Amino acid sequence: MIITIDGPAAAGKGTLAAILANKYHLAYFDTGMVYRAVGLTMLLAHDDIHNQELAEKTAQQLTFIKMMEISKHPDFRSNIGSSAASIVSAHPKVRLALLKMQQNFALKPTFADGNPAQGVVYDGRDTGTVICPNADVKLFITASTQVRAQRRFDEYKQKGISTSYEEVLNDMIIRDQRDSQRSTAPMKPADDAVIIDTSKLNIQEVADIASRIVEKKLK
Ligand code: C5P
Repeated sequence: MIITIDGPAAAGKGTLAAILANKYHLAYFDTGMVYRAVGLTMLLAHDDIHNQELAEKTAQQLTFIKMMEISKHPDFRSNIGSSAASIVSAHPKVRLALLKMQQNFALKPTFADGNPAQGVVYDGRDTGTVICPNADVKLFITASTQVRAQRRFDEYKQKGISTSYEEVLNDMIIRDQRDSQRSTAPMKPADDAVIIDTSKLNIQEVADIASRIVEKKLK
């Protein structure tokens, strides 16, 4: 089974993906990691992230092992890492270079410990439209920008990352715009995706709605 979960930042995709992967014994691929890895690798090498050719080269050299290694860096999930990921992800050549790596995971999905899985939950922006257009279940998870910015701000506060709500909100607006307006694979729901607005729902309620959709498909 392949489940895709797309949507904007801090809508709850990652949490939902982890719940569904655990419940249905599926592997999990957080596709934002590939763009974060390319962006941060370039920043650390003092490369210009706006240079498409350089970004393409970095993307072509990315492996799963390198991605896991750089994911330990403190800026991998910070605002700096998020903005860099969003900038490099707008380069069509970068998206093309990272396409196969993401698609191939579904051919031989594995859990974090290396054991084989029967399927995969993808989360990202284009997993239902471009990466796995034939997925069994497609979800598009969203929430108002204010609610998402508050969630991300609370997360940063918990981790001890110093920032303001306004700064997080502003970064989120810029990132949403860039992600939804780029020419290649813009963030949008697939025609056959179920859209869930999580603004007024807690994670258990979201998980219940998603589970009903998955179980209907399993029958
Ligand atoms: O999901 P996450 O916030 O980690 O993604 C970081 C950035 O990577 C997004 O803002 C987006 O620009 C890019 N991305 C993408 N396509 C995906 C996943 C993430 O363009 N499938």
